[in-house]
Amino acid sequence: MVIVITGSASGIGLGVAQAFLQEGHQVVFSDLNQEALSQVAATTPSKNAIFIPCDVSSESACQNLIQESHKVFGSVDVLINNAGFQHVALLEDFPTEVFNKMLQVELVGPFMLTKCAFPLMKAQKFGRILNMASINGLVGFAGKAAYNSAKHGLLGLTKVCALEGALFNITANAICPGYVDTPLVRNQLADLAKTRQMSAQEALEKILYPLIPQKRLIAIEDIAKLALFLASDAAKSITGQPFVIDGGYLAQ
Ligand code: NAD
Repeated sequence: MVIVITGSASGIGLGVAQAFLQEGHQVVFSDLNQEALSQVAATTPSKNAIFIPCDVSSESACQNLIQESHKVFGSVDVLINNAGFQHVALLEDFPTEVFNKMLQVELVGPFMLTKCAFPLMKAQKFGRILNMASINGLVGFAGKAAYNSAKHGLLGLTKVCALEGALFNITANAICPGYVDTPLVRNQLADLAKTRQMSAQEALEKILYPLIPQKRLIAIEDIAKLALFLASDAAKSITGQPFVIDGGYLAQ
């Protein structure tokens, strides 16, 4: 299959892209950060991988990503909308331009990419859309007005894609991770540790773990395995669903 995955020069996206590549699929790595993407390209010598820079907040860049992927590999079978960033501030301090940007990257971007990929998927009567949402798509978190809005919206978009794709063998699902062991989360922990004058490990154990019943971060590999399953034939009847993978966080 041909997999197009955004935000795949780092963290979850990189791990998921590598997992699909290891399973023998053709993978289009894509990211806003061209330097990071070039570094991934340099360490991924595979004829099954190509690297296309794309800022998902730009419609022309989204169109180019889908068209180029189709031109090189002949189809687009799985679209994984993963690109994202975080900004934490109270409502009254939240810059409106950052709110708009986050919606553009984490909601409008997935819409624009799906809009481009859907006609190709309908024509080939096969498609898988995977949207990287979050537990923040299901419950509210203080300080994350834009992120919560974008991720809640992404779950709505996922359901519409599922309905419109249903008769064309196109499924759409969302993955909702809790705290994943990524550089982003580790850096946040390091900052927290500095502010609270403790070690990163202490911050993990005293601040984060009390929130997580399994008392561990989610491995990127676990997200990748879920993505592989949702893209597989075994998941052909599963559509329009959010898949929570959070170590028990939302069970409380
Ligand atoms: P990350 O920062 O490691 O990776 C995100 C990638 O997206 C980066 O390479 C970045 O350059 C890219 N990106 C940012 N803006 C972009 C844009 N406009 N166009 C294209 N690419 C862009 O972060 P991550 O932790 O791997 O997060 C990946 C996804 O998973 C995000 O959607 C995030 O919301 C979601 N998520 C992460 C966690 C977590 O614990 N890390 C939990 C739940 C959900």
